[in-house]
Amino acid sequence: MDRKYLDLLPQPIKLMVAQIEGAIKAHIIVRLRRMGDPAIASIDHLPTLDCYMNMGKMFVTIILSNDSPQAHMLAHEVIHAWRYIVVGEPRLQIVIDAEKATFPHVLENDLAHIFVIPEELKYYPGALQYWDSLYADLIEPIAGVVSVQRRLGRPSTLFRSDLMRHWLILSSIPKSASLTRLRAVLDQANYLEDANALYEEVTEAGLDKGRMIGAALRHLGLSTDNYELARYDVPNRRCTTEPIPTA
Ligand SMILES: [Zn+2]
Repeated sequence: MDRKYLDLLPQPIKLMVAQIEGAIKAHIIVRLRRMGDPAIASIDHLPTLDCYMNMGKMFVTIILSNDSPQAHMLAHEVIHAWRYIVVGEPRLQIVIDAEKATFPHVLENDLAHIFVIPEELKYYPGALQYWDSLYADLIEPIAGVVSVQRRLGRPSTLFRSDLMRHWLILSSIPKSASLTRLRAVLDQANYLEDANALYEEVTEAGLDKGRMIGAALRHLGLSTDNYELARYDVPNRRCTTEPIPTA
């Protein structure tokens, strides 16, 4: 990783960088966003991690939207990469039409955040405010619609999966003010019980990401047959896939 970015990071995150670079036998590239870059987040101003393997060689790129990233954002992407490459954590992948489907990317990113955000907050407690306001921006527009629909006596089915996903992540950041706000919105939309059940099921899977993915898919009413777990096996220069665990 370029010195000017590496210097922004605290020692434990620098160590993660060294472990990733040792494993892939290459530098982590940090560069500005270009036309045609993949965007995991629907939110353009966030940095994005692009990891892929080509002919057995692993490439890790952190794509920035501007040249002076906040250190916690850079650290956040390093933690994501470290979990995929050094820990060998599986990621959710759709079996058919992998390129077109954004939902698996979104859900994968959410489930990864259950681990990544608390880790980021360990080094940058101030980043709590950042995540809080990001989630406030996501929740408030839905809250407005939910309350109108409630007045009209209509269910808010359209937003169920968004609200549930946000609940999963915010539940892993107990200090977040957005968590309190989201609880009220879920309650108003009549999804609080569902949301609590989802969180319980996912956390019961412990720290096993594959089982967490299975629990989340089942709870969101998605067929596990359409998805699989993918893992980078960097030492053996290959990617492996396995079925979604059934329990
Ligand atoms: Zn992330």
